[in-house]
Amino acid sequence: MNDCLFCKIAAGEIPSNKVYEDADVLAFRDINPQAPVHILVIPKAHAADSAAQITAGNSAVVARCFEAIAKVAEAEGLKDGFRVITNSGAAAGQTVPHLHFHILAGCDMSDRLV
Ligand code: AMP
Ligand code: ZN
Repeated sequence: MNDCLFCKIAAGEIPSNKVYEDADVLAFRDINPQAPVHILVIPKAHAADSAAQITAGNSAVVARCFEAIAKVAEAEGLKDGFRVITNSGAAAGQTVPHLHFHILAGCDMSDRLV
């Protein structure tokens, strides 16, 4: 997508604090962290705007992202646990319409939403 922030980050046109990359997936630190560890995991290709657009035809990118999430959690030493969130749509708080998963860790989230 021409004017998509995360497509530009995936293409290296906008810099990011990269923590993991493979052929299909990029993970980088969130610019406005909501937890001591806050990492975004994105498919490099603009496969979907959000979870609302996942179909049998593009769901493989979700599996690739979760494979990357497990690797990032291992590399970051998130032994005590972590949370994965995906916002879909404005009411959920989504601000960047390129499918992505937030990894949050490093604080106790056991008494909060979900
Ligand atoms: P969401 O609100 O679920 O769409 O998540 C978008 C996330 O992207 C937010 O947590 C932002 O802080 C983050 N973000 C926006 N611009 C950048 C950037 N240039 N580098 C890293 N993270 C960003
Ligand atoms: Zn995009």
